[in-house]
Amino acid sequence: MITCNPSRILQRIEDFGKIGQNERGGVDRPSFSLADVEARQTLIQLLQERQLQVTVDPIGNIFAKRKGKYDAKPSILLGSHIDSVPNGGKYDGMLGVLVALEIIEMLDEHQIETNHPIELVSFTAEEPNPYGLSTLGSRTLTGKLRYEHLIDVVGRNQDALKDAVLRVGGDLEAMKEGYSVAPGAYTCFIELHIEQGMRMVKSGVPIAIVTDIVGIYRDHIKIIGELNHAGTTMMEDRKDALVAAADLITFIDQTCRKNGIVGTVGQMDIFPNAVNIIPGQTELVVELRAGSKEKIYQTRDEIHRKLSELKERRGVDAVITNMLDQDPVPMDPDVISHMQNVCEQKKLSYMMLSSFAGHDATHLASVTKAGMVFVPSKDGKSHCPEEYTDIRDIATATDMIFETVLRIDQSMERS
Ligand SMILES: [Zn+2]
Repeated sequence: MITCNPSRILQRIEDFGKIGQNERGGVDRPSFSLADVEARQTLIQLLQERQLQVTVDPIGNIFAKRKGKYDAKPSILLGSHIDSVPNGGKYDGMLGVLVALEIIEMLDEHQIETNHPIELVSFTAEEPNPYGLSTLGSRTLTGKLRYEHLIDVVGRNQDALKDAVLRVGGDLEAMKEGYSVAPGAYTCFIELHIEQGMRMVKSGVPIAIVTDIVGIYRDHIKIIGELNHAGTTMMEDRKDALVAAADLITFIDQTCRKNGIVGTVGQMDIFPNAVNIIPGQTELVVELRAGSKEKIYQTRDEIHRKLSELKERRGVDAVITNMLDQDPVPMDPDVISHMQNVCEQKKLSYMMLSSFAGHDATHLASVTKAGMVFVPSKDGKSHCPEEYTDIRDIATATDMIFETVLRIDQSMERS
């Protein structure tokens, strides 16, 4: 049985974790930073040493192709991203790229010739960045962001995106006549990522197969009451916009628990926000996430009904503006069933999970069969220096993906 080399993976996690490491032990490696450039160069060098065909596309995505028996066949694509949030960890994104590299090395060491080329990808700027464009590389590759969306973008740091892209070996001008992945260019895409939550830790399983990436829905809600003197206005005469908002927020929390989805009010403004004035207006944003659109809409409708009731009971008015209504993205059933079969035959304990965070796989799913595997995040922590995943879990997941890749290579031979 072919297995990965856990100490080699661990060494690379540590090595890359030092690129951009700050004094608190966190990783500061936002896309286009000096640390990002250094990590890219280090990665490219590792890839070239393995005789892979390395290319950088116009947005700076790095690809490395291992030849297949039939080189014209669409590649099996594996990877993630190597940029980090400020003061992030060593695992988010980076792990998916290092596991892709490990799988290529396993194939090399055992001189396995696959039918399809196997291709590693490291996507540009997956994390939020000063240009306001997260998942930049995967959205550009899949044609969702085009030349005209990008060429005039200037970051909060006053740095033009086109200059930043040049620093990482891309060139937006090369996209002028259009750039996106050719239809059928990939057999599938598989991304390994840390879970970034508590569900796997609580279940004690090393592997989760992702069923879908949740839909995200956001409403901006303005509640209009009546501002008045906080001393002279008796309780029964008030139209307090904040008290109505507080009722609504509590209701949102309860309803999301009841419906088994997640919902958050993470942003709120109070007007005029003064100690002796009854709040005349509040503006808040409610965000709902779930794998099922029906559950999102059901929860939204309950929230809207609650708002009507509050208007009646608290004498306020309300204006609802929808800001975002992003569909859930299912992962590919063929990829999922290959993964399940591998887990069952190898007697690996695993669970099926929705991803509540967005990933590059969200976008790849629009052009190829996309699948994701999660490994546990210790204490559910991510986007912080404490990010940690046990190497045994990483090794288990790597071997599972390796076997899945071989099966997909065989079964999708004619594709
Ligand atoms: Zn990530």
